[in-house]
Amino acid sequence: MKEINYSKTIPLTSEYDTVVIGSGPAGIAAAVASARGGAETLLVERLGAIGGNLTLGEICPILGSVSKGTMADEIKDVLAKGHERVEAVTHNGVEFGIDATEAKERLTAFVAKAGVDFLPLTAFIDAIKEGDRVTGVILSAQSGLFAVGAKVVIDATGDGAVAAAAGAGYFVGRDDGRVQPCSLEFTVDGVDESIAITAWGGSDPVKIPGTDKEYRVFCREKCEAGELPENVTIVRLHRTLHPGERTVNATQHNGIDPLDPFSVGRAEVDLREQIGKCMDFLKKYIPGYENCRLKSSASYPGVRESRRIIGDETLCDADVEQGLSKRDAVVHDAWFLIDIHNPKGGGQAEGHARDAKPYDIPYGCLLVRGLEGILTSGRCISGTHRAHASYRVMTVCMATGEAAGTAAALAVRAGITPRELGAEAVISALVTKGVCLK
Ligand SMILES: Cc1cc2nc3c(=O)[nH]c(=O)nc-3n(C[C@H](O)[C@H](O)[C@H](O)COP(=O)(O)OP(=O)(O)OC[C@H]3O[C@@H](n4cnc5c(N)ncnc54)[C@H](O)[C@@H]3O)c2cc1C
Repeated sequence: MKEINYSKTIPLTSEYDTVVIGSGPAGIAAAVASARGGAETLLVERLGAIGGNLTLGEICPILGSVSKGTMADEIKDVLAKGHERVEAVTHNGVEFGIDATEAKERLTAFVAKAGVDFLPLTAFIDAIKEGDRVTGVILSAQSGLFAVGAKVVIDATGDGAVAAAAGAGYFVGRDDGRVQPCSLEFTVDGVDESIAITAWGGSDPVKIPGTDKEYRVFCREKCEAGELPENVTIVRLHRTLHPGERTVNATQHNGIDPLDPFSVGRAEVDLREQIGKCMDFLKKYIPGYENCRLKSSASYPGVRESRRIIGDETLCDADVEQGLSKRDAVVHDAWFLIDIHNPKGGGQAEGHARDAKPYDIPYGCLLVRGLEGILTSGRCISGTHRAHASYRVMTVCMATGEAAGTAAALAVRAGITPRELGAEAVISALVTKGVCLK
């Protein structure tokens, strides 16, 4: 590959205590925790609205659980306020239904109320460093490139973009380099609630109404017959906050390289094309869906897996499988299945999602090995491929975000780095806020 050397003098427009890059579930919680901790906080988002996968990714329901008292409880209250809560209990645990459009306004107000400065339509481009310490970020907006100084930067990009740009080590996918497929979720309305089923996954034994046929078997048959897109062996149907609506988690593109924009572009074209086929399937064959309408779709292909930044500690398979406790836990009783969508075909990589036991996430998983002044949160924290397949769900991402934001504010106040701060101070602050860590 040819290379060019590019350099430019750009304005340093402002200095913040904490800069959070990425406004998904992790970034929202990180920014609010930081601002509530007294730090001047900037939340930067490349897209035009807050929320990441929760809003523009159109991912519903919120899955996973953590101990009581975290900001995840508060965010769910914000999202459900004024509605009858939808909390179906399935093999996935609690499936918390949301309204992705309404969530944009509510979450924007939530961060603004905490005193966070929110900067949408602004992309992180590079990290500024002094030695091994991250001291700011280079951002891009319509005005061009500009720099912002920061005492602590939190990487909540899902993709570990900030830590990687600063020189952190990382893993992508499993040992053979393959990652989970990406999917583009969409929402349908006009569903006849008196008869329409939900389907949580490829092991759900739900039957097609009025028949003895298992829906999952029918989906597999229709995939083999070419009436569903390649590798789409299950069309998952989840409730939102509203009767008569379902989010559809079905489209699937295998072989993506989430860090190659051309690969993501090809996935976008393929996945948009798949929506029509999935709609035809629902309308033609599934009672209650005959008159459903495509209400909306995600703004981008949903990437399940990309960089996992190497931290001071790594959350391992055994931690998640056996529910191991950690002395320096900043998230307690995190739980979701080990849910690995097959990187090489349809269904699950391990036959079916594997059980996990409620586990701890230690502070060291948020500290980036070899770098100061930076924390990770959400999908890109330090863990193995199989552990990531559990902690990547949104409730757990909110909890790691809250821990990172709390740590950032404490470090800023003390005039030290998050690593110098140590886990004890973070744990004590979280417990004081009412987070149950034992
Ligand atoms: C298809 C699919 C289905 C899923 N289903 C579920 C489900 O049902 N329930 C569940 O709980 N979880 C589900 N997940 C997992 C979950 O949605 C994600 O793992 C979770 O949202 C990660 O949260 P996050 O805050 O770390 O990252 P994201 O939600 O990905 O947010 C990251 C944010 O950072 C921004 N960003 C990235 N790079 C930059 C940059 N350079 N500059 C500025 N901003 C940037 C992005 O635009 C985005 O807004 C699913 C994921 C996928 C892909």
